[in-house]
Amino acid sequence: MMSTERVLFVDHTGQIGGAELILLDVVQGRSDSSAFLFEPGPLGNALSERGVPVVTSRWGRGLAQFRRDSSWLKALPLFGRLAAITVELARAVRRHDVVYANSQKAFVLSAIANLAARRPLIWHLHDIISPAHFGALQRRIQVFLANSFAAKVIVPSEAAASAFIDAGGRRSLVEVVPNGLAVEPVPVSRQELRQRLGLPTAPLVGVFSRLAQWKGQHVLIEALARLPGVHAIIVGDALFGEQAYAAELKRQVATLGLGDRVHFLGHRGDVPMLMQAVDAMVHPSIDPEPFGRTLVEAMLAGVPVIATDAGAAPDILEHGRAGMLVPPGDVGALAEALDHVLAEPELLKPQLDYASRRARTHYNLARMLESIGLLIRNVRAGAAA
Ligand code: UDP
Repeated sequence: MMSTERVLFVDHTGQIGGAELILLDVVQGRSDSSAFLFEPGPLGNALSERGVPVVTSRWGRGLAQFRRDSSWLKALPLFGRLAAITVELARAVRRHDVVYANSQKAFVLSAIANLAARRPLIWHLHDIISPAHFGALQRRIQVFLANSFAAKVIVPSEAAASAFIDAGGRRSLVEVVPNGLAVEPVPVSRQELRQRLGLPTAPLVGVFSRLAQWKGQHVLIEALARLPGVHAIIVGDALFGEQAYAAELKRQVATLGLGDRVHFLGHRGDVPMLMQAVDAMVHPSIDPEPFGRTLVEAMLAGVPVIATDAGAAPDILEHGRAGMLVPPGDVGALAEALDHVLAEPELLKPQLDYASRRARTHYNLARMLESIGLLIRNVRAGAAA
C-alpha cells in the first residue's frame, strides 16, 4: 500500500548498521517522503535506489565518528557545524508532515530544527539509553527533548523501553515495536554453501556484527582458544570509529596463535547466506543490546544461537527456549555452550524448529511495517486535529 504522508526520515550516519537496515524497510512504498542524512555514504545510495529523495548535509561528514570521550577542545568547532546542519534540517522539515528521527544524534538535531515548524516528531530509538553508551549530559538532553517535543518514541524491545523510562523518559510516549525481518533460507545444504563461499569444512561458528568493544568479538576469540579444531568467521567492520578495537582483535588472534582458525571477512552484503553456512551463531555482546537482528536472522536460518543473557536477547530467545544464553563476558561459559552445540547438533532440532516459528510470528516484517505505518498516520492525524 502506498502511504501519502510526507515523512522526513533523518539519520546522522551514511553507513548501514542495524538501525539503518530497519530504516530501509520502513521507507518502502513511501514515495512522498524523503530523507535527510548528515553525511554521504552507502545509506544515501540505498535510499535513492528505493526511490526516496535524499538531502545530504554539507556539514556533517565525519560527525558519526565523533566519540563522547573526545576532548571539549576537539568538540568546539563541532558546535558551528551542528548549528549549520540544524539550519539545513529546519528548511527540509517545512516541506514535510512528520519528522522521523532514526538515531539519537538525528533526534536531538531534529527536535531543535523542528522548534519553529512543530511537525509531529517520532524518535525511533534503536539504543539502550545507559551510561555504557551515552554520557550523563547526553542522556539528560535526549530525555528532556523527548519529553518536551516527541510525539512518540518507538523502541524495539521492553529492554530499550525500560532503559528510556529509567533515564526519565515519559512512559506514555513509548511504543514497543519489535524489529521485523523477512529472510527466507536458501534450499542448499550447509556444506554446499561453504564450498560456494570458500569457507572451511571444519566445525564453524560465526559472529555477525560491526566490530565494537561492546559487541564482544574478543570474548568469542578467547573462547575459541579453548576449542581446538573449531573455526570462526568474524563478519562485520568497524563502522563507527572503532578501528582501534578492530586492530586489537587481529593482534589478539595473532597472540593466541589462532590465525588459521579465525577468519575476518569484513563487512558483507550476503549475511543470510553466511549465516546459514555456520554451525552456530554467537552473539557475544558484553553490554545489553536493545534488540539484535542477527539473533532473528539465525533463528530464521535454522542455525543454533548462543547469546549473552542481557538486554533484549533473553526476550527474543524466550529465556533459553529458542537459543542458549550465557552470562556476558564469561569465556568459560561460552566455550562450554559452543562445545555442547557443536557436539550434538541433532539434539537441537526441536529447538531450531521452535525458534524459526517464533521468529516468523514475533519478528515479522509486515507486522513491524503495519505498526509503524499506523503510528505515523496517528501522529499526523493528532497534529491535524
Ligand atoms: N550485517 C551486515 N553485514 C555485516 C555485519 C552485519 O549486513 O558485515 C547486518 C546483520 O546481518 C544485521 C545488522 O547488520 O542485520 C546488525 O544489526 P544488529 O541489530 O545485530 O546490531 P546493530 O548494528 O544494530 O547494533
